[in-house]
Amino acid sequence: MATDGRQFTAPEQSGYVGFANLPNQVHRKSVKKGFEFTLMVVGESGLGKSTLVNSLFLTDLYPERHIHSAAEKISQTVKIDASTVEIEERGVKLRLTVVDTPGFGDSLNSQDCFKPIIQYIDSQFERYLEDESGLNRRHIVDNRVHCCFYFINPSGHGLRPLDISFMKAVHHKVNIVPVIAKSDTLTLQECQQLKRKVMTQIAENGINLYSLPDCDEDEDEDYREQCRLLKEAVPFAVIGANTVIEVKGKKVRGRMYPWGVVEVENPDHCDFIKLRTMLITHMQDLQEVTQEVHYENYRAEKLGGGGTAPKKSRKPRNEETFNETDKRRPEGQQADISEREKQLQEKEQELRRMQEMITKMQAEMNQRNTPQKTQQNGEVKSQNV
Ligand code: GDP
Repeated sequence: MATDGRQFTAPEQSGYVGFANLPNQVHRKSVKKGFEFTLMVVGESGLGKSTLVNSLFLTDLYPERHIHSAAEKISQTVKIDASTVEIEERGVKLRLTVVDTPGFGDSLNSQDCFKPIIQYIDSQFERYLEDESGLNRRHIVDNRVHCCFYFINPSGHGLRPLDISFMKAVHHKVNIVPVIAKSDTLTLQECQQLKRKVMTQIAENGINLYSLPDCDEDEDEDYREQCRLLKEAVPFAVIGANTVIEVKGKKVRGRMYPWGVVEVENPDHCDFIKLRTMLITHMQDLQEVTQEVHYENYRAEKLGGGGTAPKKSRKPRNEETFNETDKRRPEGQQADISEREKQLQEKEQELRRMQEMITKMQAEMNQRNTPQKTQQNGEVKSQNV
């Protein structure tokens, strides 16, 4: 958990999350529109999900939250709570939706508890697919889940069967980022052991986590080092707190214990800053993987008549393209893919034709309705007819 403090310091000013740097990642057009990002948090109740989300975005997303009693929990099914906040930092707007899943793992019949979550993820894909095939394609609101923080109980000895089956059920639908909750309850050594155990179980069970992209060769040394440290930190061991405590004359977010204060934003105390850096600096990549891998898988499956389409996995940067990956598949699967690709291309052509027809019709209508324009000396003048 102890890290190089220079790499992961809190944003220059307290009270800033750091997403004002987002425009560096994307086109200017998105800056005006604002960024849309959906984060899902999953894990049993009491693991500190809401506290962490509030600490991450320095906002109170759940002001009127109801805490369930033990009796309520036994019969409770998983609810999906989506809260949207608009945060603005130095003129950059972020429309953040946090999807909480209270009740996960609480009820006696916990095996089925991830069904509503899968339904939610799929219904957002479905909505996007419908909007994309509709007429108003320019103004689609993207509510697809771009990232899922999966909270691991620090007091277990690794992942439980429910953790494994949940991750296996969603890893081809969403970018999973595992976090070890309440890591202040672990010693440094216990934390490292738990991290190793979790990663071994993830590999053994063939679970695909969100993998940070490889750095380009020409990236500067500091950035490459930051990426390396971020990759090394997975699963991020986090601490959440919504109280501000004074430590040596400085106000910090932390938890006060009889023996001292654990500081949320101190990189030597936990991976909170690393998790936030990962989220902020890779927000666009998380959106791209959602679009290019998870959504495309969903679309191919849908257009393929609901059958099980071969899953696309993320393009390893600087290595090979999806098509190249596909070339290595067995022949039967290859034929399947080309058939589906053909269908997708046909659909797309159909959409393009429709779009062109509409644009043409609109232009014709505009010509009929607009006042005739004449051009004089390079100036456009309008004239009512
Ligand atoms: P949720 O049900 O997963 O959303 O959990 P909450 O955020 O409501 O937190 C449940 C309890 O755990 C609250 O009493 C929090 O103060 C406490 N808590 C939250 N984060 C931490 C943490 O990092 N460490 C410790 N020790 N307690 C925490």
